[in-house]
Amino acid sequence: MKVTKKIVLHEEEMPRQWYNILADMPNKPAPMLNPQTREPVSAQDMYGLFAEELANQEFTQERFIDIPDEVRELYRIYRPTPLVRASGLEKALDTPAKIYFKNESVSPVGSHKLNSAIPQAYYNKKQGIKHMTTETGAGQWGSALSIACKHFGLDLTVFMVNSSYEQKPYRKSVMHTYGATVIPSPSMTTEVGKEMRKRFPNTAGSLGMAISEAVEMAIKQPDTRYGLGSVLNHVCLHQTIIGEEARKQMEIAGDYPDVVIGCFGGGSNFSGISFPFLRDNLTKGFKTRFIAAEPESCPKLTKGKFEYDFGDTEGFTPLIPMFTLGHDFEPAAIHAGGLRYHGAGAIVSQLLKDGFIEAVDVKQLDSFKAGVLFSQVEGIIPAPESTHAIKAAIDEALKAKEEGVERVILFNLSGHGLIDLAAYDRYFAGELN
Ligand SMILES: *Cc1c(COP(=O)(O)O)cnc(C)c1O
Repeated sequence: MKVTKKIVLHEEEMPRQWYNILADMPNKPAPMLNPQTREPVSAQDMYGLFAEELANQEFTQERFIDIPDEVRELYRIYRPTPLVRASGLEKALDTPAKIYFKNESVSPVGSHKLNSAIPQAYYNKKQGIKHMTTETGAGQWGSALSIACKHFGLDLTVFMVNSSYEQKPYRKSVMHTYGATVIPSPSMTTEVGKEMRKRFPNTAGSLGMAISEAVEMAIKQPDTRYGLGSVLNHVCLHQTIIGEEARKQMEIAGDYPDVVIGCFGGGSNFSGISFPFLRDNLTKGFKTRFIAAEPESCPKLTKGKFEYDFGDTEGFTPLIPMFTLGHDFEPAAIHAGGLRYHGAGAIVSQLLKDGFIEAVDVKQLDSFKAGVLFSQVEGIIPAPESTHAIKAAIDEALKAKEEGVERVILFNLSGHGLIDLAAYDRYFAGELN
């Protein structure tokens, strides 16, 4: 039987609204707290740090939020992204399962991060902000915000986790090409950076440290706001364009997923692919399973504690109710740099606590093995982060084979790995553990 390989939507079919799952959650996440007063933080409290519309989106309970025309215009460069039937992978696994993936690697920066970078730069520009600061782990978020800021005429300083700065020189080149200033973190540029270098002279850096530096600069410098690439509600909101498109595409394919899978760093791409389908579980009693795939070396969902913790190392951010390994947790320098974060977003954490989603952890070698198989049968070399979702999808497909059922599996291919080939080289050389 001939299967359709990929389902492509017309530009006009691109969703006009993002989906806010807060509207449908039976238990809303507990509020973020001011660490000094332990009082709930309001949107206004965040206006010094984030553009006002983004701070408002962090708290809104409105179910659907209109995507501004200026944002849709830029989305059109790469959206709608294709939904692809992984027929090569199905054949290689000899499974009765149907495997689909949403290909977010086709964006100009090679990942889903642009879905939030564009609206963040847009809302800052609209408010008259001149400069933005941010952090980047693997360099994906920094690359995305660099081009988004350039488009809207903002300048950008990126604090890049030092281990990635060394391991991934081409991401630096991408950000430079787009016109951003890139500083390895911890740096001597901020007070908190200097302090960390004194305290941990040999540190590889971490996302938590880089966030502290970017926040400090945003607060001290006039006309400056900070942008975060994951974790927060408004970031997950922007990413729901992935799942909203995928819903339409699955409908065209004549299937509905039994399992939806995303790799998990702070939760943005997982939320993006999942929430529009999870809406059917929450409002119509569907029984779809949702699996977040995290690295074994940074297992906040599978082994972390659910408690109030800071989003950064230094404790500049509000306290967030989340699954966390502790804000001073320093993850191993694995190649999936985008997954090296100690915590998880508040919404995803609450959903996990309430049993609406599941989590699995994946070993680094298993993730690369899955990534190599996927490259060879589907032709796309996945980002090291995305290989975690692929591994989880393969496991589900093999389970379906054992059980002899035709399960429909959908996973998000969050990015490609063409700038991460050094990591693949190290895998082939047997240098990873
Ligand atoms: C940043 C990144 C991730 C992890 O971040 P989430 O917010 O959890 O999605 C995953 N994959 C790629 C390709 C990334 O760039």
